[in-house]
Amino acid sequence: MTEPRIAIIGAGIAGLSAAEQLRGVAAVTVIEKSRGVGGRMATRRSDGAAFDHGAQYFTIRDARFHAAMHPLLDAGVIEAWNVPLSSIDETGTVARLADRAPRFVGVPTMTAIAKTMTQSLDLRLGVRVLSLTGEPGRWHLETDGGQLGPFDWVVSAAPAPQTLDLLPLADTDREAVAGVRMNGCFTLMIRLGTEAVPVPAASRVDHPVILWVAANNTKPGRDPETCLIVHADNRWSEDHLQDPPEIVKQLIFSSFRQLFPQLNPDTAVSLELHRWRFANVAEPLGRPLLIDTDRRIAACGDWCIGNRVEAAFLSGLELGERLRTDISSERR
Ligand SMILES: Cc1cc2nc3c(=O)[nH]c(=O)nc-3n(C[C@H](O)[C@H](O)[C@H](O)COP(=O)(O)OP(=O)(O)OC[C@H]3O[C@@H](n4cnc5c(N)ncnc54)[C@H](O)[C@@H]3O)c2cc1C
Repeated sequence: MTEPRIAIIGAGIAGLSAAEQLRGVAAVTVIEKSRGVGGRMATRRSDGAAFDHGAQYFTIRDARFHAAMHPLLDAGVIEAWNVPLSSIDETGTVARLADRAPRFVGVPTMTAIAKTMTQSLDLRLGVRVLSLTGEPGRWHLETDGGQLGPFDWVVSAAPAPQTLDLLPLADTDREAVAGVRMNGCFTLMIRLGTEAVPVPAASRVDHPVILWVAANNTKPGRDPETCLIVHADNRWSEDHLQDPPEIVKQLIFSSFRQLFPQLNPDTAVSLELHRWRFANVAEPLGRPLLIDTDRRIAACGDWCIGNRVEAAFLSGLELGERLRTDISSERR
């Protein structure tokens, strides 16, 4: 009996975690619209500097996530980011926050984790899936690079609004996915060169414009050059999603300077802005995965259960396990 063919749309950690579970039971093809893997666990390289401009770190709470990450810890692909966590209020006053779970990052960049998970996968990078055609069990993917398929199953591991556009969902599933709420976020990347700066390594910020500030160079395995990450507040970002990027950039930078007036703005070597249209989950689906065994379509991602890297990984893992079980029982 030949292995079933499964297409997974999206090479973020959810899609890659699902693919991992299907090794040996299905022929999996992962299709990713970006040129690299990792999705929102992202790293931007610019002029020799590197910024983790999406997920800043992750925590490991679930035993299954721990089991999967442990070999990567042993291999040095993941390390703890042991810096104090601070809070900064609107006046720029810094206070130390109580640390709870240890924080982990990919080394030398956040994308290192996804890169490790794609080894020996059939991965199509730079291919955007536009729609599905065909029928259950014989799906074709229409992409900006031509048609792929046929596939027995199609899994969307893209954010909820994109999944809604892609999959021919049954009415009840469509309604459920439409109820998921995801917020946008702007990230400002500030490169300060070798300038010593009075910015704490990792800070939650209580400010109408800014939510988070971190010194990327304090993470293990990074270049020493000062590279700051500034995440804008989600509500503020949503209100400015359609504004010209140059204006958004300057608004965030001037708020940042209010918080750190000691910083000489002329020392900024470069300022870059990234717009995350679907950054984090305000209202999740409320179950770990979506599956329609009649239509042979399924979905996973952080938006199913939470708002974090771990939630995305577990959603993909549970979907992969579920498909593996279904495939094995069909073969009996
Ligand atoms: C600014 C920011 C800060 C964050 N900070 C943290 C943090 O500190 N800690 C934490 O735990 N989490 C954090 N998160 C959340 C975390 O990054 C996500 O929960 C997790 O990475 C989501 O993984 P995913 O696989 O579900 O989705 P994604 O990573 O979004 O992966 C989906 C993939 O699908 C691809 N795709 C979409 N549509 C198509 C298409 N039509 N064709 C082909 N490919 C497609 C996308 O390009 C993407 O690569 C942060 C997120 C952002 C944006």
